[in-house]
Amino acid sequence: MPSYNYKCLDCQADFTIEATVEEKKNKASDFTCSVCGSTNIEQDFKLDDLIKESKEYGDSCKPGGGCCC
Ligand SMILES: [Zn+2]
Repeated sequence: MPSYNYKCLDCQADFTIEATVEEKKNKASDFTCSVCGSTNIEQDFKLDDLIKESKEYGDSCKPGGGCCC
C-alpha cells in the first residue's frame, strides 16, 4: 500500500498516511492528523519531489549529456 506524506496545518506535525490510490482519491477529505486529529492537513510533496528529481537527474546524467559527470 502506498503511503503519502502529510503535514498538519494546526500542530505542524509531519506524518504519513497509508492508503490505496482508490482510498486517497475518494477519502482524502477524511484523512486526519495522526497527532491531533485535525482535518486541516495538506499533502507534503517535498520529499517525494526531491526523490523524483534526483532520479530524473540521474537518468539524464549520461556521459556526453552535458552534465557534471
Ligand atoms: Zn495535528
